[in-house]
Amino acid sequence: MLEEFDCVIIGAGISGSTIAERIANELRQPVLIIEKRNHIGGNCFDFYDKAGVLVPLYGPHFFHTNSDTVFRYVSNFIKWRKYEHRVKALVKGRLVPVPVNINTVNILFRLSIKNEKEMRSWLEKEQVKINNPKNSEEVALSRVGKRLYEMIFKNYTKKQWEKDPKDLGPEVLARIPVRDNFDDRYFTDKYQVMPDPSYTQIFKNMLKSRRIKVLLNTDYFKVKSELNPKAKIFFTGPIDQFFQYSEGKALEYRSLKFEYQNLNLDYFQMSAVINYPEPEFPWTRITEPKHATGQKIATTTIIYEYPSSSGEPYYPVPNERNLCLYKKYQSLAEKLEKKGIYFIGRLANYKYFNMDQAFENALNFFDRIKKEL
Ligand code: UDP
Repeated sequence: MLEEFDCVIIGAGISGSTIAERIANELRQPVLIIEKRNHIGGNCFDFYDKAGVLVPLYGPHFFHTNSDTVFRYVSNFIKWRKYEHRVKALVKGRLVPVPVNINTVNILFRLSIKNEKEMRSWLEKEQVKINNPKNSEEVALSRVGKRLYEMIFKNYTKKQWEKDPKDLGPEVLARIPVRDNFDDRYFTDKYQVMPDPSYTQIFKNMLKSRRIKVLLNTDYFKVKSELNPKAKIFFTGPIDQFFQYSEGKALEYRSLKFEYQNLNLDYFQMSAVINYPEPEFPWTRITEPKHATGQKIATTTIIYEYPSSSGEPYYPVPNERNLCLYKKYQSLAEKLEKKGIYFIGRLANYKYFNMDQAFENALNFFDRIKKEL
């Protein structure tokens, strides 16, 4: 029955589900998704734990985008609840806003900066002048200066990536801006929402069509020979795995381990995420999903997050070695496009996409190739 399908997608995460949905609902063609895990939704998957609390299985996700197209597209599949994400970091025993804003500086340095002008002049004295920062340390030094870099970013980044920020591309720490005002939201995007009721429901709705067949618990590499050899293949897994590490080396992916704790409390902490940049804490952050999901339940679950070099791939690791190696795999991948094998998404494109970027990338990709299907 696998050979019946002319379009086969590997992976039921954001990229795979978007392409499947478009093939089924726009082109009205049948499509098969092969998913290794026992669930859809990729790393966005969430579920109700034993205590009945809605929790993410692969770490916290907060939807934010400036793209009307992406917001409109995902809104076809879910209702939203408004949620503006706010993060605090525990630094020297005090909880301070991240990204750095006026309050962060006032608390940590016992100052009383009152407005943007004063904050800009304080920042100017701290910032190290670096044109075109080449790595994450340079990005942070040029934005917040040495003292804040050491308090909030240096050690968190070492824990998270097991690398010195000097050895990571600028895009990692460029994710975190600096504010010259009191805005303590993590994101400033036009749309900041959480799905109601859950992320998993988005994917259930996307994949509802009768034309979409999802095979869970199935390893593509084991069933490959049963597929129609002329089928178009949309691969959303790690690109180096597809090529069986033919370039001699594996790309690095950073992974995470989670420790869940259900507590007989209404709430444990004051916000959905508290970061722990200091090295004496072995975890990087504690997430309490109830703050973001808005679930009304008389118990709470918290999640300790520990970075790890082994386990499911979560993050591409942007440094020179990996980007060079990725380029080699990418040129192999480009040659396969002519044969109808395509590579899409965070793992296949080796890019630190946010959720909205993954949707956008998949939608653009679909528009580019739909005439070939
Ligand atoms: N980061 C940090 N201190 C913080 C928050 C973030 O050093 O308090 C750095 C860290 O290197 C992290 C990166 O900024 O990996 C990006 O943070 P983000 O919150 O975007 O990470 P994600 O939610 O994607 O894991």
